[in-house]
Amino acid sequence: MEKIRLGRTEMMVSRLGFGGIPIQRVSEDEAVAVVKRCLELGVTFIDTANAYTTSERRIGKAISGRREGLILATKSGARTRAELESHLKLSLKQLGVEYIDLYQFHNVSDADALKAILAPNGPMGLVTEAKKAGVVKHIGVTSHSMDMAKELVKTDRFETIMFPFNFITCESADELLPLAREHDVGFIAMKPLAGGLIDNVAIAFKYLLQFPDVVSIPGIEKGHEIEEIVSILGEPHTMTAAEQAEMERLIQEMGKKFCRRCDYCQPCTEEIPISLVMNISSWVKRMPPERIFSGSIAESMDKAANCSKCGECEERCPYGLPIMELMEEHANWYQAEKKKHAAQSA
Ligand code: SF4
Ligand code: SF4
Repeated sequence: MEKIRLGRTEMMVSRLGFGGIPIQRVSEDEAVAVVKRCLELGVTFIDTANAYTTSERRIGKAISGRREGLILATKSGARTRAELESHLKLSLKQLGVEYIDLYQFHNVSDADALKAILAPNGPMGLVTEAKKAGVVKHIGVTSHSMDMAKELVKTDRFETIMFPFNFITCESADELLPLAREHDVGFIAMKPLAGGLIDNVAIAFKYLLQFPDVVSIPGIEKGHEIEEIVSILGEPHTMTAAEQAEMERLIQEMGKKFCRRCDYCQPCTEEIPISLVMNISSWVKRMPPERIFSGSIAESMDKAANCSKCGECEERCPYGLPIMELMEEHANWYQAEKKKHAAQSA
């Protein structure tokens, strides 16, 4: 597998990485087997997060005894030093490693989050100390907000940026990627298949492969998924005229339905977490049912019924999404899935 330089980290990583969200859904044995299959196929960049329940532990089991040559990335959503300290300790323990190659601040999507991270004696101080001690090799950040992502790159405090990038959410090509290159910040593309919305894997990866310095991290649940993507990497990367036409058609069809999770539509007058509701089918595909159909996600989904149809969110969405209509569709679909799940579990 081709390796590329991940910005100023100077780390060489496989061009195709492993996204660790979906392995939470399968049995531990299946999860371990799929990570091992990725390693066999030459994937050396593995991304997970403290928040992905069993993901770190399962990855730790799969890489046990074969740490060398792997670039392990994980992340924490902590915004205080104490919380981050406990997250970092837990990640090291769950992964079963003595150091983490890339430690990322998870989902920094507004100015308050950045301020908290960079506060004197705050989380950045702790990660910097961990870096000096060799426990963390490099420091990165992830975001869903384009404005914020650009701010994060410009701070020059982060060595990598992870941002959604696919042929539908393609704003990075003109906006974020050139800036990241200018600052020599490594670019990691999350959601290369738009969170499961894009079925045409060949077109999705041929689109991304035109950017030679972008590492993509598709979420992988089954061995055949990674095998299919790896086979595309081995083919000529240029799209045929028919593939180009199909991509244009898909952009037209899906572009007005796909929520980028940027949260520019907020604040909702009824405090509905709009982007969560709009992306629920992607979560259902990737997360364990017990996390999706109960607890905080279920509570958030119930809030969708409170929409007063004030329309303020639609005025703010830069992509012109018909939020009210789409939210109703997603909420109805979710409630039907929840009923099905309850019936199966009874
Ligand atoms: S239309 Fe509904 S979702 Fe949008 S801001 Fe108003 S209440 Fe919130
Ligand atoms: S609905 Fe529009 S503004 Fe809101 S998160 Fe999605 S893409 Fe962003």
